[in-house]
Amino acid sequence: MDRQQEYVLRSIEERDIRFIRLWFTDVLGVLKSVAIAPAELEGAFAEGIGFDGSSIEGLTRVYEADMLAKPDPATFQVLPWRGEENGVARMFCDILTPAGEPARSDPRGVLRRAMDKAAEKGFTFYTHPEIEFYLFQNSSPEDGLVPIDRGGYFDHVARGTAHDFRRDAITTLESMGISVEFSHHEAGPGQNEIDLRYADALSTADNIQTFRTVIKEVALQQDVLATFMPKPLVDAPGSGMHTHLSLFEGERNAFYDPAGQYQLSDTGRAFIAGLLRHAAEITAVCNQHVNSYKRLWGGGEAPSYVCWGHNNRSALVRVPMYKPDKGGSARVEYRALDSAANPYLAFAVLLNAGLKGIEEGYELPEGADDDVWAMSRAERKALGIRSLPNSLREAVEIMETSELVAETLGEDTFEFFLRNKRTEWEEYRAQVTAYELQRFIPAL
Ligand code: GLU
Ligand code: MG
Ligand code: MG
Repeated sequence: MDRQQEYVLRSIEERDIRFIRLWFTDVLGVLKSVAIAPAELEGAFAEGIGFDGSSIEGLTRVYEADMLAKPDPATFQVLPWRGEENGVARMFCDILTPAGEPARSDPRGVLRRAMDKAAEKGFTFYTHPEIEFYLFQNSSPEDGLVPIDRGGYFDHVARGTAHDFRRDAITTLESMGISVEFSHHEAGPGQNEIDLRYADALSTADNIQTFRTVIKEVALQQDVLATFMPKPLVDAPGSGMHTHLSLFEGERNAFYDPAGQYQLSDTGRAFIAGLLRHAAEITAVCNQHVNSYKRLWGGGEAPSYVCWGHNNRSALVRVPMYKPDKGGSARVEYRALDSAANPYLAFAVLLNAGLKGIEEGYELPEGADDDVWAMSRAERKALGIRSLPNSLREAVEIMETSELVAETLGEDTFEFFLRNKRTEWEEYRAQVTAYELQRFIPAL
């Protein structure tokens, strides 16, 4: 047993932990959990705990249903909302086949593979997400969504529920070792944003999964409805998960060059070029639901066009401003991702798109300074600015042809994901919506 595993076993005794939840994520990004007794833990560390993978979306083909969940001791945390007595702790797991090989369809494994590939080139991939979500009064969505306040961007809502909500959520996250950098009311009524401090992409993806759980727990405690749905309201902005990306070579930020345009290095430029060239292919992964496209094409500062800029909020990739003495914080912001994406898969495709740009030495096109939403189609065409896919159907059709995404996800996950998304599209396409009833009856 290694030191981290010993530390976990000791903490469990000292802190009166009675249940250990083993967490992992299915291909669609849904968190799964199985509880074991502390006595099982040594075995779990050594060999993993067996479970039937065929009941988990996308994890196995039926004939290889048995899988092993092996807890990662570095992710051990006590769940604060479960109380001190008879405590509950959790660890994220890597999923293995019965032969002890990493399961190809484990999203955490997909991201690990991409990060190992980056490590071979000397890079560590760091991310930090800005996670947006809505708070509604607790009622059934069919009765209509009522935001908990009428606040807007950075508003201080006096005696607002959102303050208490953010305070409770942040306290809980920090007690689980997840640092929060920033939080505020967002532009939509009842919309909030919480930004996590940057960390290596695997930890960030774990943190996002924890974040979603914490937000739902706090919502239960405060009797509100929290949602990460990308576009819950027709007339208000959607919820994005803008993510800041950087590569480090050891201690050195590989995106930083004081002499570069916007202090961006050639490596950083090639990374952006990779993101742009592959943006359409990776959109189904970054924006995986039919509803995601209502955000991307619904205004409210969500990106619809493939271009980059400096402090240009209409661009897909933005190079933020930072203090010259803070070279370490050089980074690029990818603005398409939404809060309902599977963070492991999304970070893996973003990393590989950027790395491809570096490997192949892609040329970065001219940046866009102007508001690309305000340009005419002809103006965008003249500048070579393409669109992001405008429906899940289009995104899936483009992803199907992508070698980059197929290689990154691995064959099983790639095929499962496409199958699942084609079904989602077909189900959605067949709906007769409230809009159609209103529009066509009694007129037709
Ligand atoms: N809510 C906007 C989006 O969906 C982003 C607003 C912002 O933080 O700039 O991308
Ligand atoms: Mg925001
Ligand atoms: Mg942002």
